[in-house]
Amino acid sequence: MPRSGMHNSSEVLVPPHCPNANCKYHLQLGAQWRFKRIGTFGRQVAPHRIQRFLCLHCHRSFSTQTFATSYWLKRPDVLPQLLTKTTGCMANRQIARDLRVAPSTIDRQLARLGRHCLLYHAAAMQAAQPAQRVAIDGFVTFEHSQYWPFHHHLAIEPESDFIVYFTDSEVRRSGKMTTDQKCKRERLEAALGRPDPKAVFKDVKHLLEVVAGSQPRLTVLSDDHRAYPQAIKALRCEVMHLVTSSKDRRDANNLLFPVNLADLVLRHSSANHKRETIAWSKRRQASAERLAVFLVWRNYMKSRREKRPRSPTPGQARGSIDHRVTIDELLERRLFVSRTSLPQRWVEYYWRDVITRALPRQRRHDLRYAA
Ligand SMILES: [Zn+2]
Repeated sequence: MPRSGMHNSSEVLVPPHCPNANCKYHLQLGAQWRFKRIGTFGRQVAPHRIQRFLCLHCHRSFSTQTFATSYWLKRPDVLPQLLTKTTGCMANRQIARDLRVAPSTIDRQLARLGRHCLLYHAAAMQAAQPAQRVAIDGFVTFEHSQYWPFHHHLAIEPESDFIVYFTDSEVRRSGKMTTDQKCKRERLEAALGRPDPKAVFKDVKHLLEVVAGSQPRLTVLSDDHRAYPQAIKALRCEVMHLVTSSKDRRDANNLLFPVNLADLVLRHSSANHKRETIAWSKRRQASAERLAVFLVWRNYMKSRREKRPRSPTPGQARGSIDHRVTIDELLERRLFVSRTSLPQRWVEYYWRDVITRALPRQRRHDLRYAA
């Protein structure tokens, strides 16, 4: 993980680049970039004095806070506490009560933490070895109500339990339904439209494309879902597909043990995915943001095996990173979407473009300078 010269503390260090995405010195790092200090301003929360700068190329002014993950937040203390609380199975309203802030503050800051985690993992993957073997799985959950189920597709490296990538697909409600429920489903679908019947195929294909990258070969472990062989056939690389029947015993000898374990940890750690919960996600969008937080916690911060607390994290197990990441390190500095390349579905998650059919009004992330 690249470390910058900027810290969240009040020390004034050298800004790493111009924060203006349209400036030549946003991406280009070089000794030629010139900026000047233009005084300080005070604020109520620590650090109390903030240094301001001016880029001498584009004339945009900025401050040390521009590079902090807490940029523009009135309660910068909330963000670092969110990670342990969301992965510790607390629902957004419980967290809000616990931290004495409005539920909307938690919703907003959790979305920001999710975006930060998307960028953090994408940047880490750019520097890491691609996965040559993955187990894939559709994690079944729902948004808004049980009439709108969806799958989170996860790709996990079996040798390390490292979550490489995820996408999601809307699916049609199926399984046992009463006549009333069937009628309600018809009514809802007539009014709001039906999920794309090819969604699982498309999203799993994209999942595997991102995992494969430019590698010529990939090994994929999965259950016998009928969309998987089609998705695999559509890939450009050569794939060895090892299928395990979904009826096989789900124990440690099962080839899909790593994804079964990830499902279990995910359900165990996330209030929105508990069975019989009242804290399910109102939006698929929010579920993706929570999953991004879970992914970073699981890959870089949490021991691979629950019962052996000092065991390495999945990121250490695969050699992507040589230490366990702390919350301070994760939030050390703001990551810029304009400086990180995200896979297509994650671009949609980042900009909050995922639409929930059952909701009329949805908030997109379009604040120009906010992270
Ligand atoms: Zn500039």
